[in-house]
Amino acid sequence: MHQREQQGCSGEARQALDALGKGGIEARWASGRAGALELALSLIMPRDTVGVGGSVTLDAIGLTEALRSGKLHGGTVTFLDQYRRDLSGEESLSLRHKSLESDIFFSGTNAVTTAGELVNMDGYGNRVAALAFGPKRVCIVAGVNKLVADLPAALARIRGKAAPLNCRRLNRQTPCATLGRCDERNCAAPERICNVLSVIRRQPGGNRITVILVGEELGY
Ligand code: SF4
Repeated sequence: MHQREQQGCSGEARQALDALGKGGIEARWASGRAGALELALSLIMPRDTVGVGGSVTLDAIGLTEALRSGKLHGGTVTFLDQYRRDLSGEESLSLRHKSLESDIFFSGTNAVTTAGELVNMDGYGNRVAALAFGPKRVCIVAGVNKLVADLPAALARIRGKAAPLNCRRLNRQTPCATLGRCDERNCAAPERICNVLSVIRRQPGGNRITVILVGEELGY
C-alpha cells in the first residue's frame, strides 16, 4: 500500500497532492501536526532568514514557537517576526518588506483545490506577494479542511468561513465579523481583509514552493 494511504491520505487529498506536483510544486503529506512541524523545520537551513504570513495553522503545528525560540541551527537562523506585539507599526511594516527577500517564507493558505491551485485573499497583499515572488523558498502548510473542489468553492470558503473567522480573531470592524458571513456590498470598511486575490496554478521552474498537506483540521 502507498505510504500516503497507510497514513490516512484520502482520495481528495491524493488528487490535490498529485496535481500540485504536476504544477512544479513539491507536495508532501503529513498525517498529523507533529509530522508537519518536522517537515517544515527540515526546510530551514543554517543562517536562513525566515519570514511568515500570519497563520493560525503555523501556530497550531508549533512552528511559530520554534522560530521564536532562537535555537534553530545553533541560533544562526534569523526570524523576521512581524507579529511581535511590542513592534511599532513602522517596525512591523519594515519586517514585512524584509520578508519579501527572506530565504524561506512560511504561510498557511485559504484553500487548496483538487486541481492543485493555491487560493489566497489578503487585506494588504504582503502575504500573497511573498507566495508569488521574492523569497527564495516558500513553504505552505494546510490542514485537510482547506481542500476544496475548485476555484468557486475556494472563494465561497474564503467569504463564508475563513474571512469572517479571521476578522473576528483580529477584531476587525467588518460586516462579516458581526454577521458571521460576508456582506461584500456593504463592506467598504478600512479594515476589510478581502482586497487582494491570488491563485497560484503552477510554479514556473519548480523547486521553489513546498506544500505540506496535513491529515487533520488546522486553521480557518
Ligand atoms: S468582503 Fe468584507 S464582509 Fe465580506 S468576507 Fe471580506 S471582509 Fe468580510
